[in-house]
Amino acid sequence: MKTPLISVIVPVYNEEKVLAATCARLRTVLLALGEPYEVLFVDDGSRDRTLDLLRDVAAEDSSVKVLALSRNFGQQVAITAGLEHCSGRTALLIDGDLQDPPELIPDMLALWRQGWDVVYGRRTARVGEKATKKTSSRIFYRLLRWVTDQDIPVDAGDFRLMDRKVVDALVAMKEQSKFYRGMVSWAGFRQTPIEFVREARAAGETKFTWRKMVKLAADGIISFSVKPLRIATWLGTAVSIASFAGLVWVLVRTTIGSETAPGWASLAVIDLFFSGVILILIGVLGEYIGRIFEQSRGRPLYFLQERIGFDEKPDRAASEEERT
Ligand code: UDP
Ligand code: MG
Repeated sequence: MKTPLISVIVPVYNEEKVLAATCARLRTVLLALGEPYEVLFVDDGSRDRTLDLLRDVAAEDSSVKVLALSRNFGQQVAITAGLEHCSGRTALLIDGDLQDPPELIPDMLALWRQGWDVVYGRRTARVGEKATKKTSSRIFYRLLRWVTDQDIPVDAGDFRLMDRKVVDALVAMKEQSKFYRGMVSWAGFRQTPIEFVREARAAGETKFTWRKMVKLAADGIISFSVKPLRIATWLGTAVSIASFAGLVWVLVRTTIGSETAPGWASLAVIDLFFSGVILILIGVLGEYIGRIFEQSRGRPLYFLQERIGFDEKPDRAASEEERT
């Protein structure tokens, strides 16, 4: 088969409600290109009918491929699987809920043809998302920009078109905690934004729980910066200087003055304050050490349960057939 012009990578997790609409809209846009393409769905361990629906779609449409992960690994890992298995001259990362408009694909490809290696979507507005989500995301992107020395674009998600050489660069980056919007900036190449309005979800609910968002934010900050460690050092120094001044003050008051006040309140306050500071700093250290541990263990990031629509058969296909 001819090399596809574009591989569209769609991570999906429990998206049965929106999948049909997504497939239809992608198909319309991609067929209009008049070039070979592939759509690579990565099923991130869905518990609903997502995988069954994908099986049907792939059976009817030879340009649709499906990778099913062995369990829910998270969106960034699902993207990893997609990048490792795509074959196009360009790859597009897009959410499966139609919040990123597929209609932008021709414009993105036009920019790629002009010589840009990365065309990333920058949302000028977000429709139908909760104020808490918008605010937390705003704060996060500013914080991220401040702690990292990387020029990570503000208000851009993972919606982006990348040249093959960028895809190869990303696949070569073997970190365990993936944070693609940062990794793409780090990799370099010629990058340009394209603006769009982020629509409301076409159907279903967000799959990003607070826990998943906090993990993504922590991965972004900790994998891209040692500034939290440096802040810990500075905070420790400032607190030490302040407490030394306090120590001198206490000594002077008790030796030269005639202070005999009980003083348990101030002691308790000081003790609690420092215990808090120390625990936070240990936590910061722990975050880094935990990531070193994960990296050194070097486990595969995901396992594949199934590959659908790929030409070549995986080695184990024969033994897999025996079982049924
Ligand atoms: N997703 C995934 N694995 C997860 C969570 C989400 O593959 O563990 C997919 C999800 O199906 C969607 C995309 O990642 O296609 C973005 O998720 P979602 O729309 O829920 O996030 P939000 O837009 O609310 O930030
Ligand atoms: Mg979404």
